[in-house]
Amino acid sequence: MHPMVKPALRRGWRDLNTVQFGMAPAHALVLGPMDTATGSFLALLDGTRGLPLLRDEGRRMGLPDGHVDGLVERLAQSGLLDDATGGGPAADALRHKDGAMDRLRPDLAALSLVSPEPGGAMGRLAARRSLRVQVRGAGRVGVTLATLLAGAGVGGVDVRDVGRVEPWDVAPGGLPADAIGERRDEAARRAVRRAAPDRRPRATASAEDPGFSLVILAPRGGVDVHAPDPVAAEPLIASGTPHLYAGVVEGTGVVGPLVLPGETGCAGCLDQARADRDACWPRLVTQWRSGRPRQVEACDLALASAVAGLAAGHTLAFLDGQVPSSAGARWEVSLPGFDWHSRPVWAHPACPCAATEKGNGEHTSEDGDPHETMAGQQRSTSLSRTAHSARRSGTWRAHV
Ligand SMILES: [Zn+2]
Repeated sequence: MHPMVKPALRRGWRDLNTVQFGMAPAHALVLGPMDTATGSFLALLDGTRGLPLLRDEGRRMGLPDGHVDGLVERLAQSGLLDDATGGGPAADALRHKDGAMDRLRPDLAALSLVSPEPGGAMGRLAARRSLRVQVRGAGRVGVTLATLLAGAGVGGVDVRDVGRVEPWDVAPGGLPADAIGERRDEAARRAVRRAAPDRRPRATASAEDPGFSLVILAPRGGVDVHAPDPVAAEPLIASGTPHLYAGVVEGTGVVGPLVLPGETGCAGCLDQARADRDACWPRLVTQWRSGRPRQVEACDLALASAVAGLAAGHTLAFLDGQVPSSAGARWEVSLPGFDWHSRPVWAHPACPCAATEKGNGEHTSEDGDPHETMAGQQRSTSLSRTAHSARRSGTWRAHV
């Protein structure tokens, strides 16, 4: 272990013996009381020294026996400590790829803010390289989303679509103009390769295809975004594959729900709940789905980019082991205000996905109430509730 005070958090002294780590309240922490000698010693926790050398340095600075170990342990308990050599064998392999590592350094620093244990950030970053995600839909949202995931270190990003690239598919961060006329899936995969910080590690020989960790449904057509077809998701539900919806319909961007099959509400649940609330819903959907749109659909470029960004963030959180707030909810944002809000997608008792059996289907009275803000959003999932409550009060205090 080579202890390192997380460099992602800027340090500042609030007074002579109280130090604040971090500026933004979401991850900031105040430590105190801390004497001056201990404060100076923090500078040595930069990941270049192991514990034996640190103990020697501590003795040289006149710190009492056991002080260095106690300090390191308490910094670790406060979530402020990283380990410059931790994270396991995959992390070690990634550390030796200088070019890729330099590209991923900001992502690693960001991961350290949400990975409490020393070495956890590097372990998660390395784990991303072995994960496989499929994006279905190579329009403005889908390709931008796919390149974001590849750029953030996800090793296997596959994009599926049909047809050829149209001029209006082109987007900064997505398909380039010189891909117009090429096959959509091939052009999208090339964009993904270009965005990746290095080549994907060769898959280890395995008798079984591990499948995708997540499938993202990012249709180019607004109808499939607004009213995702439950039938199309049946194989994903049956195979237990987590999937996330994202796209733009008219002037509205949508991220969610993230469906954890059998646990959170799915496209079928959403459809049933809408039919409960509005008897005309099925008739409208039938009309919207019949025939193709006669002209290019509305898709504001900034809106598409915002959707791709949020969906990529939720995807990475999920791949890193969290349950993002799109599980059982749809985040929506509309022109021109760009004010994100979420609508719950409750598990529906009539839906064959069986999510209600997990106890998430009893909420019917507040269906469709859209007025939760991003900051106040809380999911019913216990994991994310734990994550939220630990940090909701902003800067909190621990003693070293
Ligand atoms: Zn369902």
